[in-house]
Amino acid sequence: MKLASRISTIKPSPTLAITAKANALKAEGRDVISFGAGEPDFDTPDHIKMAAVKAIEEGFTKYTPVDGIVELKDAIISKLGRDNQLTYDRSQIVVSCGAKHTLYNLTQVLFEEGDEVIIPSPYWVSYLDMVLLSGARPVILNTGEAQGFKILPEQLKAAITRNTKAIIMNSPSNPTGAVYTARELAALAEVVSGKEMLVISDDIYEKIIYDDRQFTNIASLSKELRDRTVVVNGVSKTYSMTGWRIGYAAGPEEIIKAMTKLQSQNTSNPTSISQWAAVEALNGNQESVPVMVEEFRRRRDVIVEKLNAIPGITCALPDGAFYVFPDVSSLFGRSYQGQALSNSSDFTAYLLEAANVAVIPGVDFGHDNHIRLSYATSLKNIEEGLKRINSAVKGLS
Ligand code: PMP
Ligand code: GLU
Repeated sequence: MKLASRISTIKPSPTLAITAKANALKAEGRDVISFGAGEPDFDTPDHIKMAAVKAIEEGFTKYTPVDGIVELKDAIISKLGRDNQLTYDRSQIVVSCGAKHTLYNLTQVLFEEGDEVIIPSPYWVSYLDMVLLSGARPVILNTGEAQGFKILPEQLKAAITRNTKAIIMNSPSNPTGAVYTARELAALAEVVSGKEMLVISDDIYEKIIYDDRQFTNIASLSKELRDRTVVVNGVSKTYSMTGWRIGYAAGPEEIIKAMTKLQSQNTSNPTSISQWAAVEALNGNQESVPVMVEEFRRRRDVIVEKLNAIPGITCALPDGAFYVFPDVSSLFGRSYQGQALSNSSDFTAYLLEAANVAVIPGVDFGHDNHIRLSYATSLKNIEEGLKRINSAVKGLS
């Protein structure tokens, strides 16, 4: 059968594909340690689960308004005011089935052929494919480790054309953990100011931030920026709620209305029960968050130290999220059983084959010299996994 040509413009999400492969190998009995999954390994806090149980018991098991229940919209409005000094009304909020769905809706209502969308690289795997699906042209802005994996104002300035529709910002970043300071964002905001373009600010890792770094959203820097920024966030990472599928956008009413219209023709409302759980996540006790972040910080320190101890691998200390993005390029050219490893995909395949360790190749994030490891796994797994990577690297000739 001939499928629609649009589907051939994208690939399956590599993060999900590798995680699924690692799980399938485990199910077959192989002792695989996975650094693939981009989801917290903690349980959803009990008080949030109980809110969902209560919602079921009270019969909140029916369709809700397409864009979310007012209680959740109000919880989101309070959160954005409290944490980000941003004021919105209900007509400026839409709740969707995870931030990925939010971003998908957003790219569909905003972009089309002829548009250019700026994506700083390394980027989260799905931005590129979502932009491609919309028909727009992704404009990749490369950043290296030397600039902390963050774009510079002059770089942004040079990339903006008449056709630029938006830039997708993600701080803390997946996969690098880079966090933009308020000053760095102000310099970028100056470039954007006065231009006919939008900023999409994907804040999903907002709370997972270390060493007293402060999170800043570019929208909070000026009224002008606020009016041209769409904030995307969700409960998946902060509250260990990846499976509940609740994300949201806050921004100009016209855009939110269009996203709601699109959603009314695809998923309708996000799950009613999950919405009530999200109300509790945002309004309820926040104690679980710093506990989780402290555990991630401990793991980050261990994984970075162990990676840097492996000859041929260098790894910067990330400021946020739960990923490390080490440079493994000096191992390229070395071989295993006569086969030379020449890129991040070869190295990733070698680690799975020879060491039973799953990681994601950097090429999927736009940087082929790197690999991504998620440290949302136990310290025991980190120690054992890194021991295996170390021996695998020693096994290369
Ligand atoms: N943005 C980034 C940068 C992510 O890493 C993820 C994780 N999949 C998402 C958005 C989407 O998260 P979710 O759909 O679970 O809310
Ligand atoms: N964001 C996570 C990751 O990058 C989850 C998987 C996905 O949706 O891509 O691994």
